[in-house]
Amino acid sequence: MAFKSKIFILVFILFIGCMQPESSRVDFALGTVCSITLFDQGLDSIYNEIFARIHEIESLMSVNIPSSDISRINKAAGIEPVQVHKDTFMVIERAVYFAELSGGAFDPTVGPLVSLWGINRDEPRVPSQDEIDAVLPLINWRNIKLDSQTSSVYLTQKGMALDLGSIAKGYAADEAAAIIRKAGIERAIVDLGGNIIMIGERKDKNPWRVGIQNPIEKRGAVIGVLQITEKTVVTSGIYERYFDKDGIRYHHIFDPSNGYPAKNGLLSATVVTDISMDADALSTILFVLGYEKRMVLFNYLPNTETIFVFQDNSIRTTDGVNFTVTDSTFFIKN
Ligand code: AMP
Ligand code: MG
Repeated sequence: MAFKSKIFILVFILFIGCMQPESSRVDFALGTVCSITLFDQGLDSIYNEIFARIHEIESLMSVNIPSSDISRINKAAGIEPVQVHKDTFMVIERAVYFAELSGGAFDPTVGPLVSLWGINRDEPRVPSQDEIDAVLPLINWRNIKLDSQTSSVYLTQKGMALDLGSIAKGYAADEAAAIIRKAGIERAIVDLGGNIIMIGERKDKNPWRVGIQNPIEKRGAVIGVLQITEKTVVTSGIYERYFDKDGIRYHHIFDPSNGYPAKNGLLSATVVTDISMDADALSTILFVLGYEKRMVLFNYLPNTETIFVFQDNSIRTTDGVNFTVTDSTFFIKN
């Protein structure tokens, strides 16, 4: 079984023209490569502050750190509520909001499915239908009980487990951007494993150019270029973490209604908007629900744009997207 842990960057940035970054810093956190580029004023102290914050968020929200808030909540599932940091509480609250908005297509209690498929480990496998049926009752965001008075979280069933893999990177990206803006830095790029925030504009006053990953080619191959200013771009796709078995590709985004990787003709779904945490959740939701049910985004319009890439290489974008196809094997079909 060939497993490819695709933990690198979902969408990569095209540095075009005269943009020479003063400096950038790359580190591994939140299960991915995190890269920050500060133009003009690449102060060490600011990089330190940003990465300290990213690591703090990881230490609170990672399922892989035994002392994290999320691990403590999961260990106490079916036993007792756990008091957590206000940041963790807020992100879980937002995840529950998106679970409700999406009718459960997005579900932060997806943890037992992620473990069963072993998708984040070196030896993933296709579980039996019996195994899937056994964990499905545990996947239910309604069984997350939040108490804002005490900032505590309770999973009502033993065996339940939270997984914020689809929203925490977006939150961390927003926090990094907040530090950069507070420091008065006018132009910067935040890229946390494909959760991108472009701050300001290019030196030549043109919009930033962001490449959208070709979902079926090697990392760095792009299907087209998106032009944006002061926006976040987040993509959910089949290519970030996956394995192939008997000619079938199994990826890391699960449909909580059946316990299998979501399957609806999509290769990727990209969201362009203002808040990266929301974009992170929304791209996952769109990837699970598929193109036909995209109007779940209704509340976010007109502030949110989308790019859907389909298995037949067609692309559908919303009207407000400035996107140019650069790979001639793909085509716009709006
Ligand atoms: P993303 O790449 O942001 O779409 O997030 C995918 C990650 O979120 C996976 O690696 C899982 O940890 C988690 N996940 C998978 N399926 C779901 C789902 N339906 N709802 C919420 N989180 C999910
Ligand atoms: Mg996401």
